[in-house]
Amino acid sequence: MAVNLLDFDLEGLTAFCDRLGEKRFRAIQLYRWIHQKGQPDFEQMSDLARSLRGKLASQAEVRALPLISEHVSADGTVKWLFDVGAGNAIESVFIPEADRGTLCVSSQAGCAVGCRFCSTGHQGFSRNLGTGEIVAQLWFAEHRLRQRLQLSVGGRAIDNVVMMGMGEPLQNYDALLPALRTMLDDHGYGLSRRRVTVSTSGVVPMIDRLRADCPVALAVSLHAPDDRLRDSLVPLNRKYAIDELLHACTRYLDAAPRDFITFEYCMLDGVNDAVEQAQALVQLLKPRLRCKINLIPFNPFPASGLVRSSRERVLAFAQVLQDAGLVTTIRKTRGDDIDAACGQLAGEVQDRTNARERLARQRVIAIQPARPIPLPADGRGLEQRA
Ligand code: SAH
Ligand code: SF4
Repeated sequence: MAVNLLDFDLEGLTAFCDRLGEKRFRAIQLYRWIHQKGQPDFEQMSDLARSLRGKLASQAEVRALPLISEHVSADGTVKWLFDVGAGNAIESVFIPEADRGTLCVSSQAGCAVGCRFCSTGHQGFSRNLGTGEIVAQLWFAEHRLRQRLQLSVGGRAIDNVVMMGMGEPLQNYDALLPALRTMLDDHGYGLSRRRVTVSTSGVVPMIDRLRADCPVALAVSLHAPDDRLRDSLVPLNRKYAIDELLHACTRYLDAAPRDFITFEYCMLDGVNDAVEQAQALVQLLKPRLRCKINLIPFNPFPASGLVRSSRERVLAFAQVLQDAGLVTTIRKTRGDDIDAACGQLAGEVQDRTNARERLARQRVIAIQPARPIPLPADGRGLEQRA
């Protein structure tokens, strides 16, 4: 099978080119063609020697993920569903804001952590994505959006990546690391370390590895102020308890591109949203480390048996944190009309027994996007929509 060049960071591509008898500057040219120009066709890479183009065509490819559907929300949020084989699908979501564009990227099909409030967790774990499958989400979204938004040459659609789609990125570390490097590389997407965020439910040893290998912004999904409650919401807590997790966060701050850790806290009615629990959170975090708290309104799904906290309860909780001097934000829910909000991603996709029918059903959805997206004149991407 052809080598997928999306699997390589620049070092990997340099090694691959070396095996072809090509110098590093050729690898840089090739890498720029792929990631900066979005060109998958070696023939079109006009400044590469014909002989190299020939070698690439026979041995390599830029393997995009087959697109199942593309939905655009009334608020401009775009959700793409990609087929990753064997009846599994993953999602990526683009969230436009006034001053920036954020892409939410998946790292696994399903997730093994099994958090109670997360529909991905309820699906169970199917498999890790490869580096190329993680990068393909950004590759596709960036170049798709550049065409759609008709950005000028050098214009960029995505300046923020958050690893907050499906899956636990730190349980797929070996694939994640080269993907992060391509996001950061000046010859790749050139994103700032502060604008690439890994979100984790708390895989302590891997937080330390990330700190050593590639410190980007870190978000930790906390969701509870004590171990008893966190054990029941985030089962990984039974392995890495809160105290151990906060020690790892403090160590991470030495190398982090920002001088705080973000803690995510999903607001569940009557479970973790009492004023006393906000006070306990202050006691837990304030003396220990610089942090920001992001309160996420729970996105309900029937199997969870959980309910979203009322706006009043969220505000009262936030007030306690703010009064204690903890910087607190309440996440806006975006893309609600297309099920693109946190924890709703590909919630119903995994079903190996009925993979074909299910994919067929999803394709039906694709015919009726909330708002049609004009396709590029050259028809690129069309074959993936069929
Ligand atoms: N596995 C990683 C990253 C993916 S989940 C992690 O857990 O951090 C991204 C964020 O969405 C996490 O903070 C997660 O707790 C939150 N989330 C999951 N399900 C949710 C739901 N139903 N409603 C709101 N937020 C949810
Ligand atoms: Fe996995 Fe994150 Fe969902 Fe927990 S919240 S099940 S870690 S994706």
